[in-house]
Amino acid sequence: EPALSIRGLTKVYGNGFNALKGIDLDVAEGDFFALLGPNGAGKSTTLGIVSSLVQKTAGSVSVFGIDIDRDFAKAKYHLGVVPQEFNFNQFEKVEDIVLTQAGYYGMPMREAKPRAEQLLRDLGLWDKRKGSARMLSGGMKRRLMIARALIHRPRLLILDEPTAGVDIELRRSMWEFMQRINREGTTIILTTHYLEEAESLCRNIAIINHGDIVQNTSVRDLLAQL
Ligand code: ADP
Ligand code: ADP
Repeated sequence: EPALSIRGLTKVYGNGFNALKGIDLDVAEGDFFALLGPNGAGKSTTLGIVSSLVQKTAGSVSVFGIDIDRDFAKAKYHLGVVPQEFNFNQFEKVEDIVLTQAGYYGMPMREAKPRAEQLLRDLGLWDKRKGSARMLSGGMKRRLMIARALIHRPRLLILDEPTAGVDIELRRSMWEFMQRINREGTTIILTTHYLEEAESLCRNIAIINHGDIVQNTSVRDLLAQL
């Protein structure tokens, strides 16, 4: 079964704006998938619905075959989500932000501690772990959210514009990190408005515009058309 399966997904916001017009999307397990499109296309809305931060108007979403309407509690164990905005408590200690998340998933501390250590090291946050999150740079805060999203070993990692506003050097190191965990078996879906980022990282791509999927293809076929 696919890591993510979306059927007829529709979102009409409270002000009447139709942000998603019945989209279908499948992402296979193991894929590195980009949802590409200009600002305002509906990318964040789509990911927001999958992670149940945004309520959908119609349609269905399954994560590894689990319908999120029927059993989000179960689906969320398979999901790691990195939203665009910083949504952690800035006054909390860096390592506590990651460990608190482990608690939400019922991970025992003896398992969570070494996992958190590994992630904080891999993401270049080890030296900062005892400090409060508000002392981190923007790029570090982004990486903290990635560590937090991965603590429970989700099979699907969803990132909303993970490298927006990040300088090129850091962007490359984040790319390498994402490529490594994808090779190790984590399915990754990211949104981006950089074609170049989708090109160099991803295997498959969907292009969304005005709430419709206008193209859904492999990166190789997309490049062959240009
Ligand atoms: P919903 O229909 O999902 O309940 P609402 O229309 O009530 O969403 O808006 C939720 C929040 O998003 C509100 O705080 C609103 O001010 C804000 N919001 C409204 N329009 C936009 C927009 N175009 N882009 C981003 N946020 C918006
Ligand atoms: P993207 O992530 O592709 O930039 P979004 O999913 O954030 O696009 O937004 C899609 C459209 O929905 C935009 O036109 C945006 O202004 C609108 N929108 C987003 N949130 C809200 C909201 N809460 N209320 C009304 N409109 C919204």
